[in-house]
Amino acid sequence: MRAISERLAIDGGTPVRQKLLPYARHSVDDDDVAAVSAALRSGWLTTGPKVGEFEEAFASFVGARHAVAVANGTAALHCAVAAAGIGPGDEVVVPALTFVATANAARYLGATVRFADVRPDTLTLDVSSAERLITPRTKAIITVDYAGQSSDLEELLAVCQERGLLLIEDAAHALGARYRRRKVGSIAHMTTFSLHPAKVMTTGEGGAVTTEEAAFSARVRTFRNHGIAADHGEREKNVTWRYDMSELGYNYRLSDIQCALGLSQLRKVPAWLAARREIAARYAAAFQELHALRVPSVLDDRESAWHLYVIRLRLEDLRVGREQVFRALRAENIGANVHYIPVPWHEYYRRLGHHRGEWLVAEDAYERMLTLPLFPAMSDEDVRDVIRAVTKVISHYAR
Ligand SMILES: *Cc1c(COP(=O)(O)O)cnc(C)c1O
Repeated sequence: MRAISERLAIDGGTPVRQKLLPYARHSVDDDDVAAVSAALRSGWLTTGPKVGEFEEAFASFVGARHAVAVANGTAALHCAVAAAGIGPGDEVVVPALTFVATANAARYLGATVRFADVRPDTLTLDVSSAERLITPRTKAIITVDYAGQSSDLEELLAVCQERGLLLIEDAAHALGARYRRRKVGSIAHMTTFSLHPAKVMTTGEGGAVTTEEAAFSARVRTFRNHGIAADHGEREKNVTWRYDMSELGYNYRLSDIQCALGLSQLRKVPAWLAARREIAARYAAAFQELHALRVPSVLDDRESAWHLYVIRLRLEDLRVGREQVFRALRAENIGANVHYIPVPWHEYYRRLGHHRGEWLVAEDAYERMLTLPLFPAMSDEDVRDVIRAVTKVISHYAR
């Protein structure tokens, strides 16, 4: 495994592998294809029986009372923020280190975003940083289960209860993750999921909102369907053409075709989670001796869904910066990536008055982080290639 003397591919050496290994890739097998074909032949393409079936199966998988399937994870966040009754003049606290969609959901409704810092160990929302940003206008905290590990949900719920706020959990990375033995999905007031192909399971595009509260579930359903409470099924049942649009909503429905794929994918999630966990354990064991690199930490009371495997470089122990390590890994055909550029660094948020330097932990972590390939369909050889390339590159650049 020691590869210190090998010439790096970026310097003209032979790459560790011939074909680029992406950081994420979905798994679709014959079962999935059969399920989608059956849906296409069923006579239902959009809102049919598969939607309700998928919602029930999804709710039961995460242990929640209600699940509403929506068009994508961003729509799920938009629906949750709308169901929370948030609008112009309200404030929402969001971690600085997440995908832009988390913060954008609050902006769609005209709310102001306050960016909080993250914990240095797990890179999930720092509860005390979030607490310091609460004002009389704050309506909700949106926490993010970064890389697949749940945030500090009990502490956040306690803060929300004390200050009269709602907790929305962006669990786009965390389908199947556990917090104190409980799966995420029924702990926050509303939990949102993404079913994008890079995530734990997929419906092509897709998302879901889960909640214990019938009222939130009903509001999400209405918002998903133009702001109309009764869907076409109910109108058929009641033999009427009448419906009332009570508020401004969107068309955020997920189709029967997609839900058929979702049902088939959902059955495989437990095996996929086990495969992700095993690859993460192999990486951690293999990288132990590489002092210039820090592997992700998972707290004792949680189980990560391992959506992302994010290492951090000890730049003090390297002769080059993160950019050079990234390029060197790409040259070895390892599809390293970075998740995420701090959201307030984006031009749109800078225009809203956010300034670099306010999120010490998130910004420092961003400068050091690299996402390595991790997905259940990786072969033993793929895993070995990643280990070999990381060892080769890090050893070469170590001081
Ligand atoms: C993927 C993702 C989303 C958005 O999900 P889409 O299904 O792509 O719309 C939201 N938040 C986080 C943290 C994500 O990673």
